[in-house]
Amino acid sequence: MNKPEHFRPPSVDTVLRSAEGELAVARHGRAAATDAIRHVIELLRAGGAPAAASVEQIGLMTLDRLGERDRPSQRPVINLTGTVLHTNLGRALLAEEAIEAVVAAMRAPTNLEYEIEAGQRGERDAHVRGLITELTGAEDAILVNNNASAVLLVLNTLARDREAVVSRGELIEIGGAFRMPDIMARAGATLREVGTTNRTHLKDYAEAIGPGTGLLMKVHTSNYVVQGFTAEVGPAELAKLARQHDLPFVDDLGSGTLIDLSRWGLRREKTVQDALKGGADLVTFSGDKLLGGPQAGIVAGRKDLIARLAKNPLKRALRLDKLRLAALEATLRLYRDPDRLAQRLPTLRLFTRTGSDLRALAERLQPKVTAALGPGWLFEIIDCASQIGSGALPLETLASAGLALRPAGKATGSAVENLAAAFRAVPVPVIGRIAQGALVFDLRCLEDEALFIAQLDALKPERLDALA
Ligand SMILES: *Cc1c(COP(=O)(O)O)cnc(C)c1O
Repeated sequence: MNKPEHFRPPSVDTVLRSAEGELAVARHGRAAATDAIRHVIELLRAGGAPAAASVEQIGLMTLDRLGERDRPSQRPVINLTGTVLHTNLGRALLAEEAIEAVVAAMRAPTNLEYEIEAGQRGERDAHVRGLITELTGAEDAILVNNNASAVLLVLNTLARDREAVVSRGELIEIGGAFRMPDIMARAGATLREVGTTNRTHLKDYAEAIGPGTGLLMKVHTSNYVVQGFTAEVGPAELAKLARQHDLPFVDDLGSGTLIDLSRWGLRREKTVQDALKGGADLVTFSGDKLLGGPQAGIVAGRKDLIARLAKNPLKRALRLDKLRLAALEATLRLYRDPDRLAQRLPTLRLFTRTGSDLRALAERLQPKVTAALGPGWLFEIIDCASQIGSGALPLETLASAGLALRPAGKATGSAVENLAAAFRAVPVPVIGRIAQGALVFDLRCLEDEALFIAQLDALKPERLDALA
């Protein structure tokens, strides 16, 4: 019997001195390169490597290993899920104006909390407050980390050790464990549920009000709709009731928009201005949902109440940093020119792409995708229904077009999953969704066609052959 030849590894030094070793040192430093070479040699030894593992091969494996380790954990992906504001994919994309403002704020000291003319300490929220009051008609505004923080701050300030009255039809849970009852509890407020899941009347609220009441609250049922035999109390009636009892009325809009979306053919969603005109004392909403800005929570409304929020020590813990304030300021400024908003604000630009444009894009991509996948796959251009996402307009879909890819022959059950995985394994991962036995790419959010085509070249042909 022939005993396999034993793996006799080169010394770490020999690999370090090879061309690959020198490249590894130049790119990653001597300490990291030495460690990685040692590790690769160990792996080869443990795996019973053939004696033929050359210095060059070890050097290449070292470079691979170091390259993978240095790849950023958070990196760009191509969102072809059909959900524009995808929470797991980072929600709104920033406008170029906002990106430039962030970069400028990163590179230099700024007057974040400094009044330049007076030469004295200033207030960070002042950079954005004026824009919010101008655009919404609110008396005042305050900024925090996200809308969950905004709700927490409001409840903790106005309803700590008191009751917050909310309809049972509005006790929402939003993906990522934002549950209204849990936030209430952490804010130190007692949830006073009124009405039933499908019907709540004004008298339900009225009967719940007592000496322990802190506020009345309305919560946008962002990601669901109660339909059928339903009744809810309108904000104007609630505002009136709150006023009679000298209680604040808070309207958590969730997504919150500053403009009438019907202007672009979308369904009209209650705006922040509507909520304030409707009698809300405070309105809370997100920066990175329909608004199209950075992650942020905005509270707009009555000056005396905002002043109380500002005094709460939690505000300090929930405050925005200079980067997001810069991005928010630049984003809000775009709203002064609604005529150009759909070109400048990526979120709105993506919402307003037409089905026929997207179909034309699908047709342009067809030959490229077909060539990349080979004969084992069937390609179909399909109609899609994109979603807004992040709980905004949950029932509203946007007519879109996409690609459906399915195996040509008799498919094994996992062929489509494997294809999806192959598209996720390219340098800029392409994220689609699987529906009815096909990998579906909704093209609404694909603006960089060349980037997508470059990813096709990176699809590993051997992986695809194995699939079909
Ligand atoms: C999304 C949402 C929140 C949470 O907002 P974040 O900005 O994600 O923290 C709170 N309330 C409602 C109604 C929402 O839709």
